[in-house]
Amino acid sequence: MKNSSNTNIPFFEIKLESFLKKCIHGFDGRLLPVSTIYCVGQNYVKHIEELKSINIGKPLIFSKPPFAIIEEGEDIIYPEFSELIHHEVEIAIYICKECKNIDEKEVSKIIGGYAIALDLTCRDLQTEAKKNGGPWLISKGFDTSCPITPIYPFKNLEDLLKKPFYLKKNGNIVQKSDASFMIFNIPKLVSFISKHFTLTVGDIILTGTCEGVGPINKNDILSFGSDDIKEVSFKVV
Ligand code: MG
Repeated sequence: MKNSSNTNIPFFEIKLESFLKKCIHGFDGRLLPVSTIYCVGQNYVKHIEELKSINIGKPLIFSKPPFAIIEEGEDIIYPEFSELIHHEVEIAIYICKECKNIDEKEVSKIIGGYAIALDLTCRDLQTEAKKNGGPWLISKGFDTSCPITPIYPFKNLEDLLKKPFYLKKNGNIVQKSDASFMIFNIPKLVSFISKHFTLTVGDIILTGTCEGVGPINKNDILSFGSDDIKEVSFKVV
């Protein structure tokens, strides 16, 4: 039998040193790794009410692929497969230490930083998925669906537990809240996720959106930030 050559197969070109996972900037310009992006759904009462959702009594967890992440200077690319994209602004937590089954009281030891991010959502596809009992990945995980500010260093839990955040659409405030309105607070969320998955350096957790979600369109400018996080802006194209 003829011995076929494998030299043209890209698999054999992969080397560890040429592999760079998705990165994100810290507030000081350093590049930080991105591992898994976890998201929390339905974590603010008024948001549950506006979508006529049901509080399931425990955190609702889903994830986004790494190419969901974009930073200022990149555009939000409106996907062809949806006709209704909604904005959801959220506090994001950056994990700095590997852990499993972490107690709520220990959570501050593994939070390295925080940011404000958008969980852009194909609401039409998500509504269909909810109706069919299907997963949310297609509606939540598209490329550019997670614009984010740089990561700022964690100060203390008290600061994070009342962290304010806002989103402007074309200069007008459309969402504004703070972390004290969460149903499951940040220690509860991190502890819950770590019971199901090993958390590691570079994991990012989006902690849920507040009320005021709504549609975005091409050419919209979305700007968001916090009390101590410099506002960033993204164009929808
Ligand atoms: Mg969300």
